[in-house]
Amino acid sequence: MVIVGGGFTGLWTAWYLKQLAPHQDIRVLEAEHFGHGASGRNGGWVIGNIAGLERHLEGLDIGTRQDLCRLLGDNVDDLGSALAAAGIDADFHKGGALNVAARYPAQEAIQRRYLAHLHELGFSEQHCQWLSADELTDMARFHRPFGAAFQHQVATLHPRKLINGLVRKLAAAGVHLHEQSRVISTAERIVSTHEGSIEARTVVIATEGYSEQLANIRRHVIPVESLVIATEPLSDATWDAVGLASRPTFADASRLINYGHRTRDGRLVFGARGNYRLGARSRHSASISDSDIAMRQRLLVDLFPALEDVEVSHGWGGSLGLSRSFRPHAVLASEQGLATAGGYAGEGVAASHLMGRTLAEMILGEDSLRTRAPWAVQGKSLEEVVRRWEPEPLRWLAAQTILTSYAAEEALMREERHLPLISPGLGWLNNAFASVIE
Ligand SMILES: Cc1cc2nc3c(=O)[nH]c(=O)nc-3n(C[C@H](O)[C@H](O)[C@H](O)COP(=O)(O)OP(=O)(O)OC[C@H]3O[C@@H](n4cnc5c(N)ncnc54)[C@H](O)[C@@H]3O)c2cc1C
Repeated sequence: MVIVGGGFTGLWTAWYLKQLAPHQDIRVLEAEHFGHGASGRNGGWVIGNIAGLERHLEGLDIGTRQDLCRLLGDNVDDLGSALAAAGIDADFHKGGALNVAARYPAQEAIQRRYLAHLHELGFSEQHCQWLSADELTDMARFHRPFGAAFQHQVATLHPRKLINGLVRKLAAAGVHLHEQSRVISTAERIVSTHEGSIEARTVVIATEGYSEQLANIRRHVIPVESLVIATEPLSDATWDAVGLASRPTFADASRLINYGHRTRDGRLVFGARGNYRLGARSRHSASISDSDIAMRQRLLVDLFPALEDVEVSHGWGGSLGLSRSFRPHAVLASEQGLATAGGYAGEGVAASHLMGRTLAEMILGEDSLRTRAPWAVQGKSLEEVVRRWEPEPLRWLAAQTILTSYAAEEALMREERHLPLISPGLGWLNNAFASVIE
């Protein structure tokens, strides 16, 4: 078995293959170093959901939808249990998620709609509930609290610690791990690198937002940037002013998609939307500009004025993968000897665990609720499951228009005016960015 890509998807696939079939020969080929892609540089949210879930659940009866929502919620606990059992300390902490209305009044209706949407999909009251402004303030001291939709099945972790832990344990279990091994093509079960070729019964492609060099994936999953900052460790007095004592994550109902959490070492990690680059180029460099940092810091201070004078010690960015069907997939095309998963649209930390496990089960012919889920497809090619993206420069032009109109829309919403600024003709891309942004 050869796995291309050493992020969470590739490493979890190797993990579950090894657990289910200990004698299996497994090789992971990573072009740079393990965690070079989004897995080594994300915001660390472990979400008991997947982006675009409603598209997967369309037409299913309520019982099936509830089973699938439970499966997604349980995936967070399963990930935590896998780490505990393996003795990997990746700062895993389950504090839930506050989807807050905390900048302007119109956000309350947005978050209430979001909660109703989760319940309609099949998430129970135990999974998500409404918090009043006072209940929200008990958990976090936002400047202008209007209320929040609280989701219980959300945790956080330290992405780099997870990568390091998985690599260490996989190496000890006998998985062959290769860094600086760029795959240049995968065809007819032959994986080619500059150094030579290997034949494999199944080739797993796990390159998500870094698929630019693999012809069979790159037109189906494109990279979109996301940028994150982290503060210096904050004083106890600052934390008293901010709250977040139980370390829930928080996100505000905004097109700017801002989200954050308090880390184990007392920092505040905070991310907000990035951009789409012409030609679907992935972001390899982690460093971000001073203006990118300043924009995120402004948003953060808008939520928590107590952070006005706090130093931002780190800022970084990377690319997440967005599929043209706006929902993640785990595909096994046995006839081609190919398996792949991705398209997590910025919600890939938990999803890559679920999809990696699902790929391993499908490859080994196991049957489970996971392999029967609508996002798990066997016997079809990726081409049949996920459409190709529109060609450039159409994609880039539409992305710029939409991102500009989001900023204007945000300004109008703050003034409690709402205009549909996005041309209906661009609905396909609006869907795409909304799925990353909301
Ligand atoms: C800044 C940022 C913040 C994010 N925050 C969150 C969050 O808080 N919560 C959440 O759920 N998700 C988040 N995400 C998304 C999440 O990190 C990703 O969805 C997930 O890590 C994808 O994992 P992956 O293993 O599929 O892909 P990646 O981690 O991107 O790994 C792909 C790997 O493939 C390698 N590769 C590419 N081409 C080749 C080749 N030809 N040969 C060999 N190797 C190759 C790359 O070098 C890379 O290491 C965030 C993403 C970013 C960028």
